[in-house]
Amino acid sequence: MLPPRPEPNPTREAREALLVWDRAHRVGYPWRRTEWDPYATLVSEVMLQQTQASRVAPIFEAFLARFPSIEALAAAPRGDVLTAWAGLGYHRRAVALHEAARAIVRDLGGRVPGEVAALRALPGVGPYTAAAVASIAFGVPVASVDTNVRKVIARLVFGGERDEITARQADDAADAWLDRDRPGEWNQAVMNLGRDVCRTRPRCEACPLAGACRFRASGRDGRPSVKRQPAFEGSARQVRGAVVAALRDRSPSTLGAIAASSGWPADRVTEAVIALHRDGVVEATPAALGGHLRGRVAFPEG
Ligand code: SF4
Repeated sequence: MLPPRPEPNPTREAREALLVWDRAHRVGYPWRRTEWDPYATLVSEVMLQQTQASRVAPIFEAFLARFPSIEALAAAPRGDVLTAWAGLGYHRRAVALHEAARAIVRDLGGRVPGEVAALRALPGVGPYTAAAVASIAFGVPVASVDTNVRKVIARLVFGGERDEITARQADDAADAWLDRDRPGEWNQAVMNLGRDVCRTRPRCEACPLAGACRFRASGRDGRPSVKRQPAFEGSARQVRGAVVAALRDRSPSTLGAIAASSGWPADRVTEAVIALHRDGVVEATPAALGGHLRGRVAFPEG
């Protein structure tokens, strides 16, 4: 574990530099035009979990056009939601978002809650997403700390990598660093920096915080020690995506038909169907879960 930095925070100039950089940078993100709409904020934050912003942007806009309100999303069949999710992967998030919309309409009168605790009680909403929605849509002064934010804080404040600091150190530093007058804008600026500049291999020459960064001053920039994401090609994630894509074309279907249309071997398709069934993304008969080619697989009803 790394010791805390002697001086607690970047300077006022560095903070302003980050906000100025982000205001110019964020123009291309459609969710930045909807920051006071709690429903759109919830959708964007769930989509941005684990998916690059450039891939999210067009799908986010099409999703909101298809489901313009939380009531519309709650009333939609699960298959429609999964179809609108095409291209984002990690379909469990779509199921959770759909369940959250239904819970909000059923239990909260259709009002997305602004309190962190109430947000965390929703399906698929963890501490990061709850803090992001509360700060962006409701102005609640709470820091949202995901792996990208933790990476920025570890480097900037502690001079190391994110796996060299504890969650408590990251949370405390993020809280001390938060701009309490503009928490939503601030959180998004830090997230965007972590996504687009302070990457696994940091682009320090383009970073507005370069002059205040302990990591860069130590000479470690450009030599990341964190692990890269495993390759997508040939992964279980890719096969799950192929199963969902096959069902978008024809649901219900059979294990054999999915294997034939996707080109993946039946054993890989079976593994993917078992995982998707467990996550509530598809329904599968015991035969399909047992690997029988005639076993039926479908998007859930309702
Ligand atoms: S200077 Fe480099 S390491 Fe430091 S916050 Fe910026 S991009 Fe990350």
